[in-house]
Amino acid sequence: MPRTINDVIAYASAILEHTQHHNAKLEAEILLGAVLNRDRAWLRTWPEKSISATQWRQFSNYVQRRESGEPVAYILEQRDFWSLSLRVTPDTLIPRPETELLVELALAKIPEEASWTILDLGTGSGAIAIAVAKERPRCRLIATDRLLPALRIAQENAQRHQLANIQFLTGNWLKAFAPHFQAEMILANPPYIMESDPHLSAGDLRFEPVEALASGPQGLDDLQNILLASKPHLKPGGWLLLEHGYHQQAALAERLTEQDYQSIECHKDYAGQPRISLAQYAKH
Ligand code: GLN
Repeated sequence: MPRTINDVIAYASAILEHTQHHNAKLEAEILLGAVLNRDRAWLRTWPEKSISATQWRQFSNYVQRRESGEPVAYILEQRDFWSLSLRVTPDTLIPRPETELLVELALAKIPEEASWTILDLGTGSGAIAIAVAKERPRCRLIATDRLLPALRIAQENAQRHQLANIQFLTGNWLKAFAPHFQAEMILANPPYIMESDPHLSAGDLRFEPVEALASGPQGLDDLQNILLASKPHLKPGGWLLLEHGYHQQAALAERLTEQDYQSIECHKDYAGQPRISLAQYAKH
């Protein structure tokens, strides 16, 4: 067995380079850092330090799992989102950077001192609700998920960050709410991938829950459900913010207009793809 940090990293990088990974060394460092409970700077400062046999066993197990394609976030059950460390498991999607843009756009609409009611539909790990609850402590967040195992993780994440302004409800999209219940804002990063998309069986996606990813032949089924079902639950002038696929902007804008939404905006993600749509529901 390789003994020093340097050798261990070299060994694991070589293995991970053989598979599809571009960031072999970085991933080896992240995995070893997790085993030793140290950051990457520490590993680079102490390349000659030895690791124990127990640490080696855990590390080589992680490397094997990564080699077979399992995402690092699931191996470590951890992912950073919006400066918050979140627990993720195969019951939840792994939060993505583009979803941070949804949070940013939501915050831009919520005045600092507002005490709005804000819904996060299909919360998964709780990423969106937790980030917004943290940045807007006077607002009340209600996070829903159809799947109880995901909701439990979201709840655990809210507790970890000591956020008391989030409630959790089980239910599909808006089914958890009474007919007259209304909110100032509704947020969702629903499944929006086309059922037939080959990406679903490649890379990290094949380890993630398919019900959190795919949605009908064009990927629009859940987006359409949400924009219809949100209407009675938005206060006059309330905002709907949806994450969607880069090719869905026009189809979504058309459906939002058909349903009397106004002030429709679409924002590009960090890769320059149209990804988050916002609309206001004015008519009542
Ligand atoms: N809302 C969660 C997230 O953004 C889960 C989204 C999903 O499962 N489609 O990470």
